[in-house]
Amino acid sequence: MSPVRLLLPLLAAPLLFAQYDVLITNARIVDGTGDPSFYGAIAIRGDAIAAIGNLPGATAATVVDARGLVAAPGFIDLHSHGRRGIQQVPTAENYLREGVTSIIEGPDGSSPLPISKFLADTGKIGISINFGACVGQGSIRSEVMGLVNRKATPEEIEKMKAIAAQAMRDGAFGLSTGLFYVPGNFTPTEEVIDIAKVVGRMGGFHVSHMRDEAAGVLDSVRETIRIGEEGGLPTQITHHKIIGQPNWGRSVETLRLVEEARRRGVDVTIDQYPYTASSTGIAALLPQWALEGGSKATNERLSAPGERAKIKAVVIERLKVDRGAGDPKNVQIVNCSFDRSLAGKNLAEITRARGAEPTLENAAETAMDLVSKGGCSAIYHAIDEQDVVRIMRSPYTMIASDGEIPIFGQASPHPRSYGTFARVLGVYVRERNVLTLEDAVRRMSAFPAARLKIWDRGLLRPGMKADVVLFDPATVADRAEYAKPHQYSVGFRDVIVNGRFALREGQVTAERPGRILYGPAHE
Ligand SMILES: [Zn+2]
Repeated sequence: MSPVRLLLPLLAAPLLFAQYDVLITNARIVDGTGDPSFYGAIAIRGDAIAAIGNLPGATAATVVDARGLVAAPGFIDLHSHGRRGIQQVPTAENYLREGVTSIIEGPDGSSPLPISKFLADTGKIGISINFGACVGQGSIRSEVMGLVNRKATPEEIEKMKAIAAQAMRDGAFGLSTGLFYVPGNFTPTEEVIDIAKVVGRMGGFHVSHMRDEAAGVLDSVRETIRIGEEGGLPTQITHHKIIGQPNWGRSVETLRLVEEARRRGVDVTIDQYPYTASSTGIAALLPQWALEGGSKATNERLSAPGERAKIKAVVIERLKVDRGAGDPKNVQIVNCSFDRSLAGKNLAEITRARGAEPTLENAAETAMDLVSKGGCSAIYHAIDEQDVVRIMRSPYTMIASDGEIPIFGQASPHPRSYGTFARVLGVYVRERNVLTLEDAVRRMSAFPAARLKIWDRGLLRPGMKADVVLFDPATVADRAEYAKPHQYSVGFRDVIVNGRFALREGQVTAERPGRILYGPAHE
């Protein structure tokens, strides 16, 4: 045997005989439980955490010195609109750079069907973060009945229950509703409860973009609680907020309703993004009845003078006391497919560019015209900071982005896609002491994991999957702004997903360690 062949195994020995694949040393460990942090090492073998503690003498193929950094479980975003974006940006870089290692799609009552094909197709992309889904009640109803405003027949309800059950077997985590949107808005509460019962029996939860987050917010919270109570399943108010200046402060009452329901045994929880603006389609300014049947039917109503006047009255009202918060400049366009130059402009500017004063009446005309031309997505500045903080302090609130995976530089998306998790850590933990670091991390990791019944993620514990993030608590910050949204958050140095680095020393790697996550009834 040549000397070289004798030597080689000796040189490789330290790697071959290393106990672990990755060893993170000197970390301030915030483990996801909410307990006080402690200092130590985290050892990873394969896709799982093998040991946590002092670990003297431990060896690993890769050793990461985390001095000065916090090690936390990868964050879990259970309200994500990432399904389109992940096809073009499979690294989900906006999420990686704010510490998110798992996202759950299918929110607001809207999901692809069937779930099995959707998840399988997404799994084939080769993605950097884990990806799961809820099934959307609106999508189920639309498949069975179309976008009609009427009660379902008993036969239709049976069909919808069967689709929901199949989605749960396919791996959905629960049922999302978007009772604000069409066709969720046409759905009686009793029908939602019928579907929810099926999902609940299979271990799923219910999560709702409520029917009304403005003047009717209290009734909507009652409805969300009722769906959980009568449906026999956990129920969650998603992106909880109070829209419209006359309604500000009502989070006192919404949180009281949640507290009362919990005391009588209803498992109600909340999620929230840390911003005073929301984002959805411009059609949110129109009454739901005007949207029945889809865009062609809507356009016919907008061209019939009598109906247009009725629609306009509602749009004016919503600009005044609802999403417009009294001024058309509070409505900022994200993207219009028919005219990209409108991205970033507000409704007052667009109205003025049409040669009209930006009164509520004229802005309503602009909004209706934008809808008839194909619609736009928009940002609405109509939330009070005090409600944001009050909701955040509730022990029942977890963090979720309601964001998407933007294509860097395209359109003018809500900054929540880039900044939600980093903003909570930078602004609400470090700057304003609204939450402790440990509690904030819990609300981003173990809490959503438990809500989803993902039992092998969300905590730093031996045996858990190795989704681990390292960030600097002194510098972590969101950078995305409404006027300049395409800015990654800062402060996250390393992001490990299933034991492999998706972000290493601030650089996105070529690894694609993300997996498809399946819900509690998956077969
Ligand atoms: Zn929503």
